[in-house]
Amino acid sequence: AAPRGFAGAEALELPGWRHVYSGKVRDLYEPADAAPGESETLLVVASDRISAYDHVLSPPIPDKGAVLTQLTLWWFERLSEGYNGAAGAPVEHHVVSTDVPEAVAGRAMVVKRLRMFPVECIARGYLTGSGLAEYRESGTVTGLPLPTGLVDGSRLDPAIFTPSAKAEVGEHDENITFEQMSERVGAEAAERLRYLTLDLYSRAEAIARDAGIILADTKVEFGVDPATGQVVLGDEVLTPDSSRFWDAEDYEPGRAQASFDKQFVRDWLTSDASGWDRASGAEPPELPADVVEKTRARYVEAYERLTGRPFEA
Ligand code: ATP
Ligand code: MG
Repeated sequence: AAPRGFAGAEALELPGWRHVYSGKVRDLYEPADAAPGESETLLVVASDRISAYDHVLSPPIPDKGAVLTQLTLWWFERLSEGYNGAAGAPVEHHVVSTDVPEAVAGRAMVVKRLRMFPVECIARGYLTGSGLAEYRESGTVTGLPLPTGLVDGSRLDPAIFTPSAKAEVGEHDENITFEQMSERVGAEAAERLRYLTLDLYSRAEAIARDAGIILADTKVEFGVDPATGQVVLGDEVLTPDSSRFWDAEDYEPGRAQASFDKQFVRDWLTSDASGWDRASGAEPPELPADVVEKTRARYVEAYERLTGRPFEA
């Protein structure tokens, strides 16, 4: 069967692996010697593709795949410290090894194949983006009522859990209420995912704060390990693609915040300079070289500030 997913993706010839799926950013492979769909592991390769507003942009951002992978691995280690298999946090993650084909070294990891829950688990400790848009319309975020008078960048304490439904390829992920999530995954799993997401957010928020970065919000995905029945943390975590990182020094509610994520690209796309009309349905224009370079610099800076290590391409 042809691989599903994003059509323009590069499917590399990787010795020992068969390409099975490409999302907007990542390419998935399974061991060539396993029956299709039945392997215990997968190879997750992060490409340099960047997406915004549901479009994959051109050209790619050099080193982005390596930054995402290295940052994810760093966080998994931090977040699973002390994991002992017991219920409750910390949570187990899906990485099995970083022993990957030479062609994708540094930007790939071998993971346990999980049965992914069809929801994106989002924690927000600050109000902005699609949360702010819903709040302005109805005073709620994914149906949760919030106090009046909040502005762009207001802190939400405690942080809130705002799930979204994972859309089919090419469709827009859709915010859903906790009740709708419970219908999709079952009430017990919904409770557990909410608990794990908010716990992960609060631990990561504290780590980021020590590095001078505000973790405004983040999206994680979980799955079930078919071998053990355990809920395991999958996908990528706490990267500039899945999170909003703000500079703590510049933070000031009531306006857009200086950020280390792809907000920079979104801002350029929606500015007059790009000439692109988001509502037109047209493909976005090519990113100019300086936008590519500044975006790369922001991804690298996020990595270096958080981990305290220089990024080595
Ligand atoms: P989008 O372009 O909207 O992000 P996507 O999430 O499908 O689509 P990617 O994030 O590029 O695309 O690809 C990663 C895919 O791999 C996701 O569908 C994710 O749910 C899935 N995934 C991540 N970890 C695992 C795992 N351990 N087992 C099985 N699938 C996984
Ligand atoms: Mg994804």
